[in-house]
Order: sequence, then C-alpha cells, then structure tokens
Amino acid sequence: MVDYDLVLKNGTIVTAAGTDAADVGVRGGEIAGIAPHLHGAQEIDCQGLLITPGAVDVHVHLQYPIGSLTTTDDFFTGTRAAALGGTTAVIDFVEAQPQQSLLDALAQRQALAAERAIIDYGFHMTITPHDIPKLAQVADVVAAGCPSFKHYMAYSFRLHDGQLLQSFQAIRRAGGLPIVHAENWDVIQTLVQQNLAIGRSDPRWHPRSRPALMEGEAAGRVINLAALAETPLYIFHVSCQAVVERIAAARAGGQPVFAETCPQYLLLDDSLFDRPEAAGALPVCAPPLRPLGEQEPLWMALARGDLHVISTDHCPFWLADKAAALGDFSRIPGGLPSIESRFALAYTFGVGAGRLSLSQWVDCCCTMPAQLMGFTKKGQIAVGYDADLVVFDPRQPVTLSTKTLHENVDWTPYDGFQLTGWPRHTLSRGQWLVRDGQFVGQPGQGRFVARRLATT
Ligand SMILES: [Zn+2]
Repeated sequence: MVDYDLVLKNGTIVTAAGTDAADVGVRGGEIAGIAPHLHGAQEIDCQGLLITPGAVDVHVHLQYPIGSLTTTDDFFTGTRAAALGGTTAVIDFVEAQPQQSLLDALAQRQALAAERAIIDYGFHMTITPHDIPKLAQVADVVAAGCPSFKHYMAYSFRLHDGQLLQSFQAIRRAGGLPIVHAENWDVIQTLVQQNLAIGRSDPRWHPRSRPALMEGEAAGRVINLAALAETPLYIFHVSCQAVVERIAAARAGGQPVFAETCPQYLLLDDSLFDRPEAAGALPVCAPPLRPLGEQEPLWMALARGDLHVISTDHCPFWLADKAAALGDFSRIPGGLPSIESRFALAYTFGVGAGRLSLSQWVDCCCTMPAQLMGFTKKGQIAVGYDADLVVFDPRQPVTLSTKTLHENVDWTPYDGFQLTGWPRHTLSRGQWLVRDGQFVGQPGQGRFVARRLATT
C-alpha cells in the first residue's frame, strides 16, 4: 500500500530529543508519518545514514549592500550553497531608508529574494537611529511575519543606550524579539585611532582594537537593558568567554537571554591575522577572531546550554576587495563565508570530536534556531512539520576548498579543512533540492515564511 509521496527508509532519525530507527513518510510537503515499514510512491534507502531536520541559519547577509560593496552571494547562489550544505531556511536582513516605512522596506527586500531564493527564508528588521521615530510600526512588522529586530551597538548606524531601551520597549509591547550586535564602539574607535596614529595598520591590529573584554562589557550592558525593558534578548555572534559569562549569569538569574556563536569563533583564532599580505586581511570580521584558547569554552557553552545556536553570519566579499584595504585594517570589509559548510563543520568538529552529542548538533543547527526565531513548522522531525529534511552521510570525507564549495566567493577560511560527514540529500517541503550531492533545485522555489514567536 502506498501511503506517502516519499519515504526515507532505514535511516537513523536524529532530533534534538534523541535518535530513532524509523522511516520518515512525506505527503503534501509535510512530514506525515514516522514509523517502521512505511511505503511511498518514491522510496529512498538511507541505511547507514542520518536523517536530520533541514538546518536553519538565522544570520546571513545575501546580496547585501555594505558601504560601496555588496556581499558576493545573492539570493540564488547563497541559498544554493546553503542547500548543498543541508540548510533549508535562512534569515536575512532588511534595513529601511530614512524616509521609508518599515513595511515598504520589507516588501522591497522580499521581492528581491522571491525570484531567486532556493530555500525558505525570513528577515530580521534592522532598527537604526532613523527608525526610532518609526517604532510605532514595529507591531505591523511583527504581524507581517518578521518578529525579530536587529540592533547594532557598533558602526555609524549604532544605537545609543537610550535608543536601545526605547526600541526594546516597543518590541516587547509588540511581542517581538530584540537581537543585538554587542560591541563597545567608542572604545573601538579610540583604539583604532591610537593604533593607526603610530603606524599599526596591519590586520593584526584589528582584533587588538576590538577587545573581548569590551565585547563582554557591551553584552552585559545590553542584557541589563533587556532586563529593564522586561524583554527576552538574543545576542548575535558571541566570540569569547567574556560574553558567555554574562549570558550564563543572566540565565542563572532567570532572565531569558539567548545567543549564537559561529563556526569562525569555534574553529579559527586570531593568529590568522598575522599571515602575510592579503591572507591576513581575509579573516577580518566583527567581533574579530579571538586568541587561541577562547574557542573551546564556546563549545562547552553550547553543550551546557549557555549558547544556543550555531549560525554563520555569512557575509562574503571578494579577496581583491579585502586586499584593497590592506594599508588600513579598519577599512577592510568585514565578514566570512560559511553558509555551505556550517552544518558539516559542526558535525565533524562537534560530534566527531566528542564536543557535542548528535542531538546537541541538531539542536544548535536546526531546532533551537527555528524555535527561537519562530519558524513554527521547521527544525524538527515530527508529524505536521515541513518536510525539510537532510540525509547526512556521517562517513563521507570532504576536503573544503573553493573547488568543493559552491559559495560565490574566491576564498574560504576553511581551505584544506578535512571533514568526515556531509549531506547527501536535501529536501525542502518534500521537494528535492540536492540529490546525491547534486543540486537539482530551481530559483524562486524558496518561499518567504511568516514567523511567529512562541510568546506572541
Ligand atoms: Zn551579521
């Protein structure tokens, strides 16, 4: 008897709750059955393979204008690379022009993604100083399916503490979630100027101008502001123990603070900035890579639940654009690519290295990001959820390089990294995106997903 459109047979299902030997039946784009001996019109043997939820990356910058540059992956190439790496949903960003309404900006960005995206997507609404007079519009943005709001404490569009508080209050009233890039911009600017003034212009002065101590200070300050506004809080790209300590203390006191880290902070260190010429400029990102020794505590924080998500902050720029600013580290465009390799990096260096259990891996990369950001039908293998599924081969050897990866950028910080484990098949709402490692999706196949937070 054929009950399903598609059945993934004989695999090991991995969820945030555990592992299970059962078949997964897909019907009408949803997961419709989880049990032994299911039958479908199409049956895929997954013997010896892991079946996981599609991975969810809640921090990506695709065809994103930053200064005079635009990130090199667009909504097609970026989401194709994501799908090849087992990611089936991403959250990108919207920024409104000074005179533009938040909803207009959202509609514009949605239109850009709609024609090109392979996988499902959502957007965080960025709140800049221009948007403080528009905070009454926050409720409309939440209603439109964008309940998460990005705030910067760094760069020209940073918010001051009072503005952060006002925004948090408005977001709380609307049932949304504030997100923060936490760094201390005044201190960074001062250190940058001091270093440049005495000829310290090499990339190695980039991390030395953005100290971990002050990332911790900024995180502590914004955690306090969230407490004052009585709102949950999500902190982006935690790079160091100084931030983890603040999060752990707040959580121990019952405050709902959540946070992510990224592969670059788990796997790379600041010795990369000492490499000669352009190589030293490539890994520039903010917060910066930290000294050797800062990485292991981040893994431990993920395992014990003081960090919750591994996202990428995928923000690729061409090698030439990085190299062009070599004479002044503060002008090097910041950002690293990893939209394709995140899930597998977390498997090899998390599960494979004994730092995370299989369930913790799926939780950090799939389930928690979906839950925290309000993808109500993603991130889990359960009946009624979208059939966003990955069949992962835990024995597949892969050596990362720009030849094996499909990101639209001419370098990777993971060049030469040897992985064991890579996605073999990726399905989005029951449709094949990747089959036997080959991309078979179509531009425009991805949909905007209206997200709803559990609290709203
Ligand atoms: Zn970012």
